[in-house]
Amino acid sequence: ARKFFVGGNFKMNPNTVAEKKKLVELLNQADIDSLIEADLDLEVVVAPPSLYLLPLKDILRPEIQVAAQNCYFKDSGAFTGEISPAQLKDAAIPYVILGHSERRTLFHESSATVAQKTKAAIASSLSVILCIGETLQERETDQTTQVCSAQLQAVVDEISPDDWSKIVIAYEPVWAIGTGKVATSKQAQDTHADIRAFLAKAVSPAVAESIRIIYGGSVNKGNCGELGVQPDVDGFLVGGASLKPEFVDIINATR
Ligand code: 13P
Repeated sequence: ARKFFVGGNFKMNPNTVAEKKKLVELLNQADIDSLIEADLDLEVVVAPPSLYLLPLKDILRPEIQVAAQNCYFKDSGAFTGEISPAQLKDAAIPYVILGHSERRTLFHESSATVAQKTKAAIASSLSVILCIGETLQERETDQTTQVCSAQLQAVVDEISPDDWSKIVIAYEPVWAIGTGKVATSKQAQDTHADIRAFLAKAVSPAVAESIRIIYGGSVNKGNCGELGVQPDVDGFLVGGASLKPEFVDIINATR
């Protein structure tokens, strides 16, 4: 069985140290039933801005892990504004989000760049939350499978089959991100199944079966229940709702 994964992508929020503290208090005081149980059949990871990674890691309850939202593919050097996989490793940050649609679109990251970053992150023993997904125009012209496969193929070309054990795939349709327009549970299930089928061919059936494929895009406490019971939906990457008390409901509703 695949361990359910709930990620909170804070993006460029919150705006103040005080608000960040409130968020941590919320998570630390939350009655997160399944986490308290000894077997930890749920993984919860939050991704704050890099400025807050270490302070948050220090004060957050140990059951909740932290992730960076991005990293570069070099380990050190003259790359102003970037953080490296080696630095994340040294700081004991276990996860990094790569290939988020906002990075692909606003910061012009190609699938080849995302693949290079994924390779570098895994070489530094980081786990990667690898984001893929199609635009509305691509969905409406029936290119969803093709777009997701091409985004994954770039990574297939860079890493070895064993490396996929370090990856969680986040399927985030661009049209559902921050729009309030969530994918239907059928759309999510069908696309996740297609992604698994692609990986079975491109990597191996074993990888396709064991890898977690989580859904992101306007997840909230109202829609997470139905999405979370789909057989190929192994969790969520939550944006806006991860900054609210609702995030605790999403964590709990999925068990
Ligand atoms: P929203 O949940 O705000 O739609 O964002 C989803 C997302 O981009 C998570 O990475």
